[in-house]
Amino acid sequence: MTPYRSPWLDDDLESFRGTVRRFVTDVLAPREPAWQAAQRVDDASWREVGAMGLLLCAIPDEYGGSGGSFAHDCIVFEELCYAGVGSFGKHVHTICAHYILACGTETQRRRWLPRLASGELVGAIAMSEPSAGSDLQGIRTRAAKIGQRYVLSGSKTFISNGQVATLVCVVAKTDPTAGAKGISLFMVETDGQDGFRRGRTLDKIGLPGQDTSELFFDDCSVPADCLLGGVEGAGFAQLMEQLPYERTIVGLAGVAVMERAVRLTTEYARERKAFGKTLFEMQNTRFKLAEAKTLAHVGRVFIDSCIQRYLAGTLDTATASMAKWWLTDMQCQVVDECLQLHGGYGYMREYPIAQMYADSRVQRIYGGSNEIMKEIIARSM
Ligand SMILES: Cc1cc2nc3c(=O)[nH]c(=O)nc-3n(C[C@H](O)[C@H](O)[C@H](O)COP(=O)(O)OP(=O)(O)OC[C@H]3O[C@@H](n4cnc5c(N)ncnc54)[C@H](O)[C@@H]3O)c2cc1C
Repeated sequence: MTPYRSPWLDDDLESFRGTVRRFVTDVLAPREPAWQAAQRVDDASWREVGAMGLLLCAIPDEYGGSGGSFAHDCIVFEELCYAGVGSFGKHVHTICAHYILACGTETQRRRWLPRLASGELVGAIAMSEPSAGSDLQGIRTRAAKIGQRYVLSGSKTFISNGQVATLVCVVAKTDPTAGAKGISLFMVETDGQDGFRRGRTLDKIGLPGQDTSELFFDDCSVPADCLLGGVEGAGFAQLMEQLPYERTIVGLAGVAVMERAVRLTTEYARERKAFGKTLFEMQNTRFKLAEAKTLAHVGRVFIDSCIQRYLAGTLDTATASMAKWWLTDMQCQVVDECLQLHGGYGYMREYPIAQMYADSRVQRIYGGSNEIMKEIIARSM
């Protein structure tokens, strides 16, 4: 097969990938078991990744970022997947920073972006609530303006980076009677913040090192300049504007995991013997791996097109939603087939395919469930 190179890559990006791969493989991957045991990533590692310039690759250097492009971030996301580093919550951290870059005032950018880039602050996005996930307009968290402050009241759940985050983007209603136009985003610095409380780390079936948590805001009073962009009621539009970014990242992870699953399973099938020959010599194995490789490649070509369009500023929400649902559905299908080809060993946690199986499932649920993605696509037809 002629080697395929993603059209958005060039020699400089390939060299960047070399540096990222060495750092992720040699430094981060060995920490994965400790993070999983602790159900969180340690603060020092966040700062280390920040010092490497890998937290906010695409944020301009005037705001402390690395001054690269979305392509640099994509490489970091891919390398984390290829090395099986599932605990490090760069995705929501980066999304949080991009909200600030795109929607924040100049003062807000200068206040938060440099500290997010260095890892001094860790970001989280708090949209989901116990009674509202897909139906974002059904959230109950309130932000009432009292003088020069907003008082936040409500609870959030399933929040990635929930235990480590020190800057949380909170979705709240400033006007409960105004529907989507009554939603606003608040950036809450959590250190020493009265009325802010972290709940337990939730017990999940996968991603054991990600500190998915409940967060509570009990009369949590923040200065008025925590309102993102300084305009009430802009939150829903701000969220919508950033969705193609988030969905492309989730789809990209789906592709990278498929690629890793195919590679590891091909290696395994070439080694493992049954009935006097390797698994790879059996037609079923060959066909299953051929199908998996084809799906991973079709997925790669599609996500590459999304990445190119994102870089060109032309990626629309419906196409990004196609990438999110289809690639994560294919991810679960491919990883399941690859686990099957491992036999009993595929069910053992010491084999990476087992962790990939458990971790993959949530990809179809978060970032907007795959059913919601299809709604969005259908609305565009
Ligand atoms: C590990 C993990 C990490 C997460 N991280 C974050 C985070 O960092 N920040 C954050 O805010 N949230 C986060 N979430 C929450 C996630 O985004 C929600 O779980 C998701 O949006 C679905 O919402 P829900 O769980 O309330 O399900 P519900 O909205 O109750 O949906 C239940 C089912 O009904 C389907 N459904 C709902 N509405 C429709 C419809 N109109 N048409 C057809 N089907 C529909 C859904 O697709 C789903 O299958 C995370 C979740 C998990 C599990």
